[in-house]
Amino acid sequence: MPTQDFTVGQWITHAHDRFMSLNYTRYPIAIVRGRGCELYDADGRRYLDLFAGFGAGILGHCHPDLVEAVIEQARTLWHVGNLLHTQPQTLLAERIAKHGFGGRSFFCHSGADANEAAIKLARLYGKAHPGPGGVKRFKIITALGSFHGRSFGTMVATGQNKVREGFEPLLEGFSHVPFNDLEALRAAIDDQTVAVMLEPIQGEGGVNIPDDDYLLKVRRLCRERDVLLIADEVWTGCGRTGKYFAYQHWIHRRDESPDIMTLAKGVGGGLPVGVMCARPEIAELYNARTQGGVKHATTLGGNCIAMAAAHMLFQVLERDRLVDHAASLGKYALDRMRRWVREIPAVKAARGRGLFLGLEIDPNAHGAWFKAGADVVGRCLEHGLLINAAQQSILRLAPPLIIDREQLDEGLDLLESILRGSA
Ligand code: PLP
Repeated sequence: MPTQDFTVGQWITHAHDRFMSLNYTRYPIAIVRGRGCELYDADGRRYLDLFAGFGAGILGHCHPDLVEAVIEQARTLWHVGNLLHTQPQTLLAERIAKHGFGGRSFFCHSGADANEAAIKLARLYGKAHPGPGGVKRFKIITALGSFHGRSFGTMVATGQNKVREGFEPLLEGFSHVPFNDLEALRAAIDDQTVAVMLEPIQGEGGVNIPDDDYLLKVRRLCRERDVLLIADEVWTGCGRTGKYFAYQHWIHRRDESPDIMTLAKGVGGGLPVGVMCARPEIAELYNARTQGGVKHATTLGGNCIAMAAAHMLFQVLERDRLVDHAASLGKYALDRMRRWVREIPAVKAARGRGLFLGLEIDPNAHGAWFKAGADVVGRCLEHGLLINAAQQSILRLAPPLIIDREQLDEGLDLLESILRGSA
């Protein structure tokens, strides 16, 4: 507990270093309170949050409707386990089906969990639909630069070596091809391939947006080869990119939707929710009634409080038209950032969809005062602005979708001054 020798903030960070796993690289800031797009540290300092906890705080901090939904549910029912039916999870599943492709949802706690559920389901599909001559299908192709989680299966699915190093021997059956390269994918599919797993927009890879025809062509290729398409929408789901789900930017026909979609981060609005949603005929392979028992499960999956929050989140997205708001405000921000590319030599490229924005910076450019994205993030923090850097030199912005133009401009003005070296 804090004592006379420590302020609350100092105690939190000091005790953290003594008692907690040090697996994260944290800034020496202890946040104690949040409201909307603002955070406050233990000394009462305000931060404008343009990253929303890796995008998960998609409605901002302590959104009144989410708070109400959680309190109401906490007074009513917390947890009974999945031997019984509970209303919040059924309501949420209905919303996801409505805005997506009519699939069936399995609920868990994180993106890694959701992707594990998808990988296991794909393997069941491979068993049920063997290749030529009865060959077993179990291989999954993902993209270089992708990120799918840090559990044993998903770290191997992830197309970045640094995530796997030291954990060998690895799970077999995964390979990686360049993102946005249809021919490389076509060449990689063999008789044992059962699924392709892609982020429609790569998040941890640096907000990488594919060509306009890529995803639909991948979809059609997968159909031709009877290979499942798994869309990892953990970063991009629930309106973040200006569509309910990012695949909808490029795939417009419901019958061409992905076979499986995974969600986490934003779907819980900051509570731990993961979702694996599959087309009904594929989800059938997890049907405990017809498949001879339970194939996949998790004790707290579909927890009533988390589900009530996620269900309310969809209601707020609909009521406040936040998906359209993300699309238009994101376009405004991207136009501003594209001007920086023309005007500031150290800004190489700006990209994004909706309120998922990336800025590629060049530390070697004339006049650049920073050596890496982390330096810019650090300077922003000194000025009370929270953004993020990925892959050394990509600055990422993922503000809550409730942000208004004035607040966004406050953050962009500051970032612009910092990039110009004048703040
Ligand atoms: N999939 C994608 C696209 C992600 O960006 C992440 C995390 O960043 C994950 C999966 C893993 O999610 P979680 O950290 O909730 O396990």
